[in-house]
Amino acid sequence: MADPRAAADVPGGTNPVDAFGRPLGSLRISLTDQCNLRCRYCMPEAEYAWLPRRDLLTFDEIVRLAEAFVSLGVDRVRLTGGEPLLRAGAADLVRRLADLTGVADLAMTTNGVLLARHAESLRDAGLRRVTVSLDTLRPDRFRTISQRGTHHEVLAGIAAAAAAGLGGMKIDTVVMRGVNDDELVDLLEFGRTVPAEVRFIEYMDVGGATGWSPKLVYTREEILATLAAHYGPIAAPARTGPAPADRFVLPDGSVFGIVSSTTQPFCASCDRSRLTADGIWLRCLYAMSGMDLRTPLRAGAGPAELRDLIAGVWRQRRDRGAEDRLGTRSPDKVFVSLQSLKRDPHLEMHTRGG
Ligand code: SAM
Ligand code: SF4
Ligand code: SF4
Repeated sequence: MADPRAAADVPGGTNPVDAFGRPLGSLRISLTDQCNLRCRYCMPEAEYAWLPRRDLLTFDEIVRLAEAFVSLGVDRVRLTGGEPLLRAGAADLVRRLADLTGVADLAMTTNGVLLARHAESLRDAGLRRVTVSLDTLRPDRFRTISQRGTHHEVLAGIAAAAAAGLGGMKIDTVVMRGVNDDELVDLLEFGRTVPAEVRFIEYMDVGGATGWSPKLVYTREEILATLAAHYGPIAAPARTGPAPADRFVLPDGSVFGIVSSTTQPFCASCDRSRLTADGIWLRCLYAMSGMDLRTPLRAGAGPAELRDLIAGVWRQRRDRGAEDRLGTRSPDKVFVSLQSLKRDPHLEMHTRGG
């Protein structure tokens, strides 16, 4: 069904909708492709091709692009990476984006390793919400999954964010069969203590996930069955809006989410797009190419030209990447080959920002 905001895309209106009636609503901005973890579902390789430093958008450039997107209907902005807190001065950018009229929701997704030292400055700068990725409560398991030994820093980051009063905290957990599928209840209970809403994410076969296999996907149905066996019946309110997670309610009223991109994708209501740290704009997480906005920006394109470029491309959008993958997955072939990833780092999840 077309989004009601589609009504804005009429002659004389300003907000574009895509070929399936989906508006531009949410923008994920990657601040860097660098990361201080090496999660096996995202960065399993020993070496990576990095974006050239000279290509990274400056904060001024990011703000100019954000202004163009916001003027076209984007009202939710999320900073991501790689690890966004590796970008020096991230809080300064938060302050500038928080000041933009029209940004109703400004959030960040982080692995939490550096969060303890930045939580207060992010709050003071106007960050409204933070999502911390946490796959396990066990330090040894964290080392296995992330290939780094900084579990205690992530937990300290979560505690610091709660103490700083960063509201609406979420914890995102990629669930992998035989890796951390025995921690669902523990993670939910941990979320209550923070407090934070836990969201379980199905392992996706995105670019970069070179170790993906269907056998490792712990599905939405399995997650629900595991939790129902422990807590009792789980209520599933009707889906509302374009958010990626479906929300569920436990018998005691507490809420958790599931992002079932792999087995039950939600492309029909998807209003998200992604800007890489070097200014490539991707209309879908699974898109094989994007639009270079850095070149026109650096050639002097003004607000009206940028708006026209973005609106024109969005109107052509027909992407439904995760739904397309449903019918085409092969159990022994990854979505993007290692050679392709080496040739084009824009295909990597850590470049696209998740
Ligand atoms: N480094 C930050 C972090 O981990 O929160 C932000 C960037 S990371 C690419 C954003 C999200 O993508 C994380 O929550 C991560 O768990 C998720 N992600 C990465 N690879 C994934 C995969 N193969 N399947 C599902 N989620 C994945
Ligand atoms: Fe892990 Fe995020 Fe880094 Fe990917 S970008 S390796 S998910 S911390
Ligand atoms: Fe949106 Fe693409 Fe993800 Fe589908 S796969 S929800 S269209 S970003």
